[in-house]
Amino acid sequence: MEFDFQKIFLDQFSLIVALEILMRTVIMFITVLAFLRFSGKKGIRQLSLFEVAIIISLGSAAGDPMFQGEVAIIPALVVFTTILGAYRLITWLMMRSERIETLMEGKPEYVVENGVFVMGSHDKHTFAQDEFFSEMRQQGVEHLGQVKKAILETNGVLSIFFFPKEDVQFGLPICPKEYEDSSTQIPSPGEYACTYCGNVEELEVPNKCSRCEREVWVRALDLQRES
Ligand SMILES: [Zn+2]
Repeated sequence: MEFDFQKIFLDQFSLIVALEILMRTVIMFITVLAFLRFSGKKGIRQLSLFEVAIIISLGSAAGDPMFQGEVAIIPALVVFTTILGAYRLITWLMMRSERIETLMEGKPEYVVENGVFVMGSHDKHTFAQDEFFSEMRQQGVEHLGQVKKAILETNGVLSIFFFPKEDVQFGLPICPKEYEDSSTQIPSPGEYACTYCGNVEELEVPNKCSRCEREVWVRALDLQRES
């Protein structure tokens, strides 16, 4: 088999085609910008699933007429108008009905309460524990004993509320070095945190976690947050 590099890289490409692509791209780019302005969104940091769906539909409708000669611009604009209409309608419905809002975007969920993982929060969503840990480290958390509550917002951001300094308790370390010492062994008596649920117990010998019945422990920390 032989590759036709001429076709792969250039095909029918020529100066006139280049100019056409330039014009199409400028028009579609301006249209996308105008669309985003009219959608009423201020800026984009994190998108909910509903907004990601909108962006994907938009990107596909905008991309084709940019470089595919046989796709005209007006039909793409019809697609745009339809998406904008749907976006406006659904946003309007979401403002009026909490049920529709939950259906479209989900609900904020408690992940940590009083220094331990909320039971079931591991299984309910696909946000893995190491992702929580990474997100919490980025917000300056060293161990769960510093965290009064953590809430997973519908746009995927983790909101963290800290204990005041004097209320910091023993908690599960979330930095890799401390965490990697986790095992079913108890090398010396002390405060240990369950690696699954964050529950802290004073242990002398290996034991099951009284909260989740698992038995992998790591030495708990009670460091305060550096301010
Ligand atoms: Zn546990």
